[in-house]
Formats: sequence, structure tokens, C-alpha cells
Amino acid sequence: MTATNFNIGRIRQAVFSSANVPAAIAFVVLLICAIFVDQQNKRVSDQLTRADVLYKVNIIRAKLEGNINGNLQLVQGLVSAIVTEPYMGQQRFASLAANLFKQKSQLRNVGGAPDLVISLMYPMEGNEKAIGLDYRKNEAQRIAALRARDQRISVLAGPVDLRQGGRAFIGRIPVFVPTAGGGDRFWGLVSAAIDIDRLYAASGLTDPDLDIDVALIGKDALGGGGQRFFGSDGIVKNNPVTAKVQLPFGSWQISAIPKGGWPTLPKNERVLQALMGLAAALVVLPILVAGRLFGERQKNYAELRRLSGRLELALEASGIGVWEQDLITDELLWDDRVNEIYSKPTDGKPRGYDDWAQAIHPEDVARAQREFDLAVAAKGPYSSQYRLVRPDGTVRHVRARASYFQDSDGTPKMIGAEWDVTSDVLLNENLVRERQLSESKNAELKTAKARIEHVALHDSLTGLPNRRYLDEMLANSPEHSTALLHLDLDRFKHINDTLGHAAGDAMLMHASKVIKANAAAGDFVARIGGDEFVVVCQGRDDNELAALADRIIEEMRQPVDYKGHQCRFGVSIGIAALSGVDAKQLLVNADLALYRAKSRGRNRYEFFNEELQSEIVRTKQTADEILGGLERNEFIAYYQPQFDAKTLEIVGVEALSRWRHPRRGILSPDIFLKVAEELNVVSLIDRTILEQTLENFRRWSLDGLNIPRVSVNVSARRLEDKDLVLGLRKLAIKEGTVSFELVESIFLDDNDDLVSWNIEHIKELGIDIEIDDFGTGHASVVSLLKLQPRRLKIDRQLVTPITGSTAQRRLVSSIIEIGKSLGIGVVAEGVETMEHARILKELGCDILQGYAFGRPMDAESFRIFATSRKWLATA
Ligand code: C2E
Ligand code: CA
Ligand code: CA
Repeated sequence: MTATNFNIGRIRQAVFSSANVPAAIAFVVLLICAIFVDQQNKRVSDQLTRADVLYKVNIIRAKLEGNINGNLQLVQGLVSAIVTEPYMGQQRFASLAANLFKQKSQLRNVGGAPDLVISLMYPMEGNEKAIGLDYRKNEAQRIAALRARDQRISVLAGPVDLRQGGRAFIGRIPVFVPTAGGGDRFWGLVSAAIDIDRLYAASGLTDPDLDIDVALIGKDALGGGGQRFFGSDGIVKNNPVTAKVQLPFGSWQISAIPKGGWPTLPKNERVLQALMGLAAALVVLPILVAGRLFGERQKNYAELRRLSGRLELALEASGIGVWEQDLITDELLWDDRVNEIYSKPTDGKPRGYDDWAQAIHPEDVARAQREFDLAVAAKGPYSSQYRLVRPDGTVRHVRARASYFQDSDGTPKMIGAEWDVTSDVLLNENLVRERQLSESKNAELKTAKARIEHVALHDSLTGLPNRRYLDEMLANSPEHSTALLHLDLDRFKHINDTLGHAAGDAMLMHASKVIKANAAAGDFVARIGGDEFVVVCQGRDDNELAALADRIIEEMRQPVDYKGHQCRFGVSIGIAALSGVDAKQLLVNADLALYRAKSRGRNRYEFFNEELQSEIVRTKQTADEILGGLERNEFIAYYQPQFDAKTLEIVGVEALSRWRHPRRGILSPDIFLKVAEELNVVSLIDRTILEQTLENFRRWSLDGLNIPRVSVNVSARRLEDKDLVLGLRKLAIKEGTVSFELVESIFLDDNDDLVSWNIEHIKELGIDIEIDDFGTGHASVVSLLKLQPRRLKIDRQLVTPITGSTAQRRLVSSIIEIGKSLGIGVVAEGVETMEHARILKELGCDILQGYAFGRPMDAESFRIFATSRKWLATA
């Protein structure tokens, strides 16, 4: 405004001094012209200055972006290597990083922080202090580090004061490595320190010839809203030209003003005023003013060119080329570096769009053009990478970044930077190749491992999961709604023994197929032992489980053909489906239920339930106590006398086991014998009873008691003992003094050879064989008589009713007759009354045993009994 007033004053003077009308008119015209020109000049000058500053800012921006991206790109290669080798040590890390440092960059060091603690570093020298830095504990770096981890993004922090001295921008790249389950886990951070001073220098920020003042805003890449970290506050407040520096995840804002601030007057103001004064005196004034103005404008451009010449120098050092494209004419301005990159003469001549497009690799050109067009349509920012084919056929990789802007005439333009990243790309390709190699190696290892695991977890015969697999499966299975079926083949051993192992294997294959076919697709079927299988199912109720068990049992009892042999076997199943127990316990419970199914007759299933549970607890207690009782010799023999039916003299005693329980007193066999059988200790009991009996037998004869013979009960198990005969031989038993009572049921099963062999040898030792409980079992009389026993012992159940039933009497009579005809003695047990005794005597029975004459009693009581001969009085 002041300038305009001043002009008007001078012009008015001129008008009054000349004081003629045409001149006045000319002055008015001139005055209007002058005002217009002055304003125009200011506007043009202002715009020129801003455009000049913006131009320089854009160059700096492009170089900052190019440098930072280039640096981080290098580090990305290292990250790829870590992903494939997460356990790499310092040596490998350093050798890979050393490769990176061969490239021109502003990297000052790279570090690796597995689990957020720095333990890998390159170069180590000078950066030792950083080792051991725990990001979680470092107040200044913690937030940025955790942000990188939690948001899974690379961040550019800084400027940061380094622990080892100096300042840097730190790019932090979170590294995630794939896990076996298909997901990934956080490995840690790779950090790259970009040297601030070198970055600024390479980007032309600290160039002493730079004639703009620059401020950078947005510490930690927080953008225009962030903290200023370069340049003074005055710049930001003085209406600066701004541009955005695009960073990986975030940005900075760059603000700039001319050095020393914006000019208050256009540089050419005084000249212009003088000219206008002159023009006022001359008629040609408007023309001269216009001519002069044009000159000024030219001068401004010359100045601009001089400035860019300096920037040229800086750019030359960095290798980054700068280009500008007029989006209306498509004319391109390439600086010398771009020309070098494109193998064009550095003649400063304008280029066309075709110069660019034709240099691009045919495979990349369509994409490169598309990317450029898109950036233009969106008015910025442009970022691309493509290959160039040089005239000599070599291929180079270049990266380009650019921004959209309008110059002072409003012409839309793209201004950008371009640099050669061939070595980067090659390094990356190498890393990718290495990575693929190690991935394929990993894959091989994986399949090998899977094969080994499969073998370890599967049964080789049926291909089903094995016991180990089951255990692992159960350890990881949810407790609720899991049910377990424990299957055990019946009579499998028999097939194996009679038809051989090949037949056994074929039956197992058959069984596994039957089970698999009946189980649902999601059920887990395993073979956990010789002929044992397990089915684990989820979410099935008791009815469904029972139906499944029924189906399997039904199908398993169908005969199977093996090389012309009809093989028959069956399966017993224990089911545990109780909720609230862990999976391991489930297996134990199913096992107990299976045991119950077997003992209840096979080819059936049983559920584990509360009742079974408490019975098991009781049995378990008894079992524990029996084992303790055996150690403490609590099992003793009681003796029941046997009498000659005619003379009523004692002809023998039967030894019967009793448990002298420390708390419960004398217990009879029905309390403990079943559990003892389960524990497989009946043989032991039999043996102590025999030993005690022999001991007492000797003592009685020393006492002058004439007891001709002792009988002991021998269990089926004892007869299966291959060392039985050897043990008996050592006892040096006198012939005819000991009788073994064998229950009829022993002879029900097909006698195996060992039992027959034992019986033969027992007889050879002079021990009598007696068939106990005769008439109750279903063994054929023929098979029993084949044994040629010394005596038959008619069971109590047959003896008791003879007093009331003639039919029963006839039955007993015919047994006695069979015995007589074969020369086998006949004993009657359960002789409870004298009536019994009389009838049996009349029927021809040889020996009587029962409460009518004497109950089982301990050794001392028996001695007194036998001495007293009291029974003769009652008879
Ligand atoms: P058992 O061999 O049939 O023995 C006869 C059982 O009948 C004995 O029962 C005996 O006390 C009982 N008894 C004898 N006279 C009469 C009578 O007039 N009326 C009645 N109601 N019962 C009479 P106990 O001692 O309870 O033995 C039961 C079973 O336990 C025995 O039956 C025998 O099979 C077995 N047992 C006993 N001791 C041993 C042993 O040391 N080893 C083996 N393996 N089994 C034994
Ligand atoms: Ca007996
Ligand atoms: Ca009996």
C-alpha cells in the first residue's frame, strides 16, 4: 500500500509540472497502468518466490523419502532372512548385515532384538553399549517399540539419542515367524539406525549453499501434528511452504521459507519505480515498463537456474535423479542423473513421455504407466518400481517417487526423484532364493518328521493309533462329554495258539475293521495292546454308546474264515462315560467296566458306574489287606474231620483256609477267596495251607493221634504252575497220606497239557486226587473218570436234600454206585444230621464229613477233639 501511495505522489507531481491536458490524460492512463503493473509485479514476484521455495522443498522431500525408503528396504532383506532362520546367531546376522552395508546408504548400524532385548548387532564395534538394551525397560524407546509389536507395523522413530552416542532415526520392523500351527509368533524387532547427519547431508538439508530455511515436523513420523525436530520455530510461524514427506507408516511435514524470511518488497521494486518515473516522462513509458518487467522476470528465472545448479551438485553426489513432467504437454525435464540412469546424453534437453516409456522393460511398462496415470489422476503421491532395459541390453531396477504440484502458471506437474536400486533388488532376490531353499529343506524335514511321528504313534499291523497316541490324545482332550470304550477280544489267545500268529494277525485286522466301521467318523479308534482296542467318542449319550457296543459285539461274534478255518471269537466292552473325571481316569474306569463285563460272561458290555466304583474301592481295600495278611502269615488252616461211615473212626481231615483278620477276627473263604483269585494269590494261600497242614500232621502223629490222611483244596491256578511238582517233591510227602481236592469246574475247560502233566506227576508223588463238588459242575462224567481219581466228593447241595426226597436219594445212590463199580472211593460232605449219616451209610458211601460230627476247627481244637472221641457218644 505504502509503495502505491508513494507512486501516486510522484506521478501527481509530474502531472502538475507538465500541466497540459493530453499529458494529464496520458498521466491518468499511466497512473492506472502503474498501479496495475506494481500490483502485478508484486503478485508475480511473490508467486515466483514461493514456487522457487516449493521447488527446492520438493527436491529435499524426494531425497529424504528416497534415502529413508532405500535404507529400510535394505533392512527388509535382513528381516526376510530372520523369518527363515529365527535362531540365527550374531555371526550369521553380522555376515548378512555386512552385505547390506556394502550398499550406499545412511545406515549406521542394524540391531536385532529377539524378545525385545537387543542381542544381535552390526557393526558391533562402537555399538557394544546397545547390547542388552531391553525395549520394555527403556523409557525413551518403549512406546515406539511396543507400537511396532502390537500394531504389527514398521515404525520410524526419532530422532533418538543413541545409547552408544550420536543421534539417529530408528526404523523398527517387527518380525513375526511362522509357527507349526500355521499361525505366527512375535520374534522381536529389527532396528535400523539411520544416521541423522548423513541423512540430512545426503538429502541436501545441510548444504551451506541452501538458501531456504527448512523445518521438519513430526517426530516419530507423527506427521504435521507432531513435534518439530529440525529447524527453528520461526520458519513454522512465517507462512512457510509445506510438503509432506511420506515415510513407511507415517510422515513428516517439511516447512520452508527463504533464508532470512519472505522479501517484503519484490526485489525489483525500486527499479520498477524508477522505470515508471521515467515512463511518466516519456510517451513510450508503458512499452518500456513492459519490456523491463519482462527482463526482470527473465532475471528471476536465471537466478532460479543458478540455484538449481547448486542443488545439482548435491544431487550428483547422492545418485538420485530429479525429474519434472509437464502434465499438459507431457514434456519431461531430466537432470543429469536421470539421463545417466536412462543412458541418455546429459545435454539438459527436454525429453518426452516416450523417452521414459520406451526405456522400460516390456514386462513392466504397462504397470509403470498405469501407476503413473493413477497417481496423476489422484494428484499425487506417486511411487513405483520398474526395470529399465539399457541400449546395451543390461537391465537395471529403478525406484521412482513423485508428488503432484502446480507451478506458478497453474500448469500441473509431477516432480519426482528416481534412483537405481538394482543392487538392493539383487540382494533381495538372493535372500528370497536362499529363503526358498531353506523353506524346501524345512518342508522335507517336516515330512520326514511327520513320517517318524506317524510310525511312533501308530500300530504297524492295523494302522490304527497306538497306546502312546491314545495317551497323548487323552492328555489334550476336553474332560466333558468324552466317553471311552475299552474293548478286549474274547478267545483271541485260543486262535493265536491253535492256528498261529498269522491267523491271529488276520483276526486283529478283521477286528479293527469291524470297530472302525461301526464307530463314527469323528471317533478315535486305537489298538492299545495285543487284543485290546479303545474307541474315544465325543458328545454321545449312554443309549448311543450302548447301541455302538451292541453293534460291535454282534458283528464280532460272526465267524470269520481264515484259510478254510472258521474262526470264532467275541469281544467284551467296558464303557466309561462319567463326567467330571479326567481323561486318564476315564481309561482306568473303562478298564474296570471291561473287567466286570468279562467276569459276567464275556461277549457283553458294562458301564462304569457308582456301584462298580464303590465295589472296586472295597475290593481294592480287601486286596491290599490280603497282600498284607499274606506277609504277616494271617492265613491259617482249619481242620474238619472225615469219618469212616461204618466204624465212625477218623479217616482223614480236610484243611480249610481261614483269615485271622487283625480287626474282623476269623474270616471264611467266601469273604476273601474271590479277591485273592483276582489278585492271583490263591496259589500262595494253597501253599501255606498245605505247609501248615503237613506240619500239624507230623505233630499229631508225634502226639500219638492216629490221623491217616489230610486233604487240601487246590485251585485251578495252582495246577497251572509249572513249578508245582518240583515244589511238592521237596516236601517229601509219604504215599497215601495227602489228598488233593480239585473242583469239578477245573475240568470244564479243555484241559491244557500242563494241567494234565501236573496231575499225572502229583499222582506219581503218591498224592491222591479227589474230585470235589462232584455233581454240581457240568463236566462230563467220562472226562472226570478219565482222570482216575482216588475219590469222589459228593457236593453238599446233593447231600442236604436226601433226607426229604427219594429222587435226590436215588441220584446220590447212583453216584455211589458208579464210584463202586470203578473202584473209586465216595465221600459225602455236608452231613449235617445223624439222619444224613444213616442214609449215606445205607447207600454205601465210604466217608462222611459234616457238622453232624465236627465243624472245621483250629489245630489245637482239633487235637483236643480227636483225643476226646466224643462223637462216638452222640452217634
Ligand atoms: P469245599 O471244598 O466244598 O469245603 C467244604 C465247605 O463246606 C467248607 O466251607 C466247610 O466249612 C463247609 N461245611 C462242612 N460241613 C458242612 C455242613 O455240614 N454244613 C454246611 N452248610 N457246610 C459245611 P468253607 O470252609 O467256608 O470253604 C468254602 C470253600 O472254599 C471250600 O469248599 C473250598 O472250595 C474253598 N476253600 C477253602 N479253603 C481253601 C483253600 O485252602 N484253598 C482253596 N483253593 N480253596 C479253599
Ligand atoms: Ca474241599
Ligand atoms: Ca465241596
